[in-house]
Amino acid sequence: MTAFKKQMQRHVSFFWGLAMLSAALTVPHGTSGSALAASDSGGTRVIVIDPGHGGHDRGAESRGGEYEKDITLLLALAMADALRPDYRVVLTRTGDYHLDLARRASAANQHRADLFISLHLGGSRQQHVNAWEIYTFGDHPDMARRHGADAQVPVTSSKVQNNDGILWREIQPRHETAGLNLAECLKSQFQSDLRIPAVEIRQAPLRVLQGVDAPAVVLEAGYLTNPAARDALKDPRFLSDVGIHIRKAVDAYFQSGK
Ligand SMILES: [Zn+2]
Repeated sequence: MTAFKKQMQRHVSFFWGLAMLSAALTVPHGTSGSALAASDSGGTRVIVIDPGHGGHDRGAESRGGEYEKDITLLLALAMADALRPDYRVVLTRTGDYHLDLARRASAANQHRADLFISLHLGGSRQQHVNAWEIYTFGDHPDMARRHGADAQVPVTSSKVQNNDGILWREIQPRHETAGLNLAECLKSQFQSDLRIPAVEIRQAPLRVLQGVDAPAVVLEAGYLTNPAARDALKDPRFLSDVGIHIRKAVDAYFQSGK
């Protein structure tokens, strides 16, 4: 059994089920700007923040009835507040509605993202389980075949020269090194100043990242099913702190020049 299969079995969050199901069903395409909110404060770099889930897709759920979709949006807004002074911030979703994975990736390309950060929380039947996990896209031949990654699809990004002939599976791997660098910057911030004890960097063939033509990560900021993590995630001051530390990580990423 591969490490990835073990990981898949361990991980029971709804996010995974959605990501894998959608991977087989959707292809990316251009999207109208109606679902997007942009804030241009004069910064030249574009950070696209993707609050996971929305609408009928509630994501993980705590015993107290809190939904992942609501907290990812609150965290995205906190991130936007921290980033806006110096970056152009785009949210893929600004309310409680469904948005498929392809539209999230397309938003990043349409807005010429310099970075794409998708926000999620973990969920487990075991309440003691809690961890922060940062995923970058990692290809795997079997997964690529299963998810139809050989299909040619249009990509609405000015950075892609061959707009009609680009293979979907070839887009995100171009940014693998930069994505891992971003993940390391985030991990460093979370572990040092924010004092999150367990932060893991993992790779997986996540569809929401696959078509993004920029360094991209999925952040799972703790498990909503863990009571202590849930209480923290309900606290606006904590969300603000997380936003500030993500901002510091983004600064460090760009200062590293990678
Ligand atoms: Zn999720």
